[in-house]
Amino acid sequence: MKQVFAIDIGGTNTKTGLIDSDGAIVSFLEIDTPKSGGVEAEVGAIKQAQESLKFDIAAVDAIGIGVPGPVDCDGVVYNPPNLKGWGEVHLRKYISECFGIGREKIFIGSDATMAALAEFRYGHGKGANPMVMVTLGTGLGGGVIIDGRPMGGKNGFAGEFGHTVIDPQGYRCGCGRIGCVETIVTHKGIVRTALELLKKDKGSLLWGMMEGSFDQLTPKSVQEAADLGDPTANKTLEITAAALGQLLANLINTFNPEKIVVGGGISLWGDKLLEPAKKIAHKNALKHLAKQTEIVRAKYVKKAGVIGAAANAFACLERV
Ligand SMILES: [Zn+2]
Repeated sequence: MKQVFAIDIGGTNTKTGLIDSDGAIVSFLEIDTPKSGGVEAEVGAIKQAQESLKFDIAAVDAIGIGVPGPVDCDGVVYNPPNLKGWGEVHLRKYISECFGIGREKIFIGSDATMAALAEFRYGHGKGANPMVMVTLGTGLGGGVIIDGRPMGGKNGFAGEFGHTVIDPQGYRCGCGRIGCVETIVTHKGIVRTALELLKKDKGSLLWGMMEGSFDQLTPKSVQEAADLGDPTANKTLEITAAALGQLLANLINTFNPEKIVVGGGISLWGDKLLEPAKKIAHKNALKHLAKQTEIVRAKYVKKAGVIGAAANAFACLERV
């Protein structure tokens, strides 16, 4: 069976693993992403991980990599915001030189596209055409798979759903515009919604959970408080679901997808988030489109990037 050395580079951790062509993880190792030293330090850390995993790199069929930021078709990564000191980096060249593997066997894509490919090849979006993926976490990313291939756009940058404006009177986004969905349906957005609502609710359970520090407030604590019936936590969930629902309606109208897969850490809120979001999506999408799309939760969350990096490599190998 074919095997790929898959790597998911994140701002905090890098996940590495040997993955076979039916998506099974043969071996896996998570390491810290070096905080300094740029791409050289990261490639060195990946090399160490590969040595710890004790497999013969010359025997793998390909190397697949997901990165947290824009990457073009040549494997050049452009200023990933969460990787300090990277700038514009020809990652494929670095990896090729470090491992002695030809560039034609190294496949690199954005982590959001990789997550989409993981679901399309092995997960809950298997075979759907088109399949749209929405990933909710620190940021809001996505990807579209049409006829089995990621729709990259001209430079491979397509899928920035997070910067769809859904509230022109809302908050300013990191991109400079006002009211992008990323200002609401992300880790930071959820915390901000909860903090705003807490100003008017001195009795919320969330105050106790924070133990005096706003930094302790997380989407997970909001979920826990919502499960206990806390009104402010439930209202936060409702606002988040409404914004997500609007985005999903836009995606239904734009792509007429067979399936939309919702993943990322925030999707672990489960049906409590997804069910109201689905209702809003189906209510707001155009009537003849609304019922065509099935909206499901992702199969992979924590290992989506690494499974996807392998899925991408296998798909590319099949096309050669
Ligand atoms: Zn934006």
